Amino acid sequence: MNLGRWHLDLISAGTFALDGGAMFGIVPKPLWEKKIPADDKNRIPLDTRCMLLRDGQRTVLVDCGMGAQWSDKERDIYRIEGHLDASLAAAGVAAAAITDLVLTHLHFDHAGDVARLDASGIARLTFANARVHVGRRAWEHAHAPNERDRGSFRAQCWAPLDGPERDRVVLVEDAGGRANILPELEALVCEGHTTGQLLPLAGARDQRALYGADMVPTRAHVPVPWHMGYDLRPVVVMEEKRRLVELCAAERITLVHEHDTSFPTSSIVRSPKGELVPA
Ligand SMILES: [Zn+2]
Repeated sequence: MNLGRWHLDLISAGTFALDGGAMFGIVPKPLWEKKIPADDKNRIPLDTRCMLLRDGQRTVLVDCGMGAQWSDKERDIYRIEGHLDASLAAAGVAAAAITDLVLTHLHFDHAGDVARLDASGIARLTFANARVHVGRRAWEHAHAPNERDRGSFRAQCWAPLDGPERDRVVLVEDAGGRANILPELEALVCEGHTTGQLLPLAGARDQRALYGADMVPTRAHVPVPWHMGYDLRPVVVMEEKRRLVELCAAERITLVHEHDTSFPTSSIVRSPKGELVPA
């Protein structure tokens, strides 16, 4: 997909699974399981789909999946399968060629592969030459989580950024719900799911894509009340999602689903009943 100056590829960093009830909050199971069936442990399959943006100078990766720092027990609990390396290789991109890593937020299924352990057990940056863009407030929140979301952060995933590689971090400032990251790559900034989440918006004019991250993780999450039980501020999620879905419809922006194993993107259109629905 061409988005203004950028060529976009959507690449998978592997799949995992989470409790379907937690993924759909107050929506009853008889409704959500028609959209995404659960396994015998009530888990639904989820992708970790990244945006790979190239303009001939920069190679930008948006989010990086779960990474490799998981025990066998955790792999079983989260049904972790696959990895970013195969997808990057298929796209012809070496990890060292990534110039910019943009993290929507620091939850483990988005920032899990910032660092890997080397043969001596020392954490090294996976993308050795990349600057790491993260919202200032998301960064601060990840370093002081609350009891409710502490389990979603694993500091070992980004350990070098707290130590010797701190100068790699670009803290993205926001104002009025928007932030600028790179040319033709801005972000909508959302507070409902977690503090200061960046939703990258790439391209120009009629060639734009919005990365839905954890605001619209799957196509089933397009309806406003269908949001995750993990969200810190549910009412704020609904207000923000209404605005971003309306924006996608009005300005014909392609919506990218990070976690949907079946539908990588949606267009948002108005149904005969007047509702905004995915197509
Ligand atoms: Zn999240």
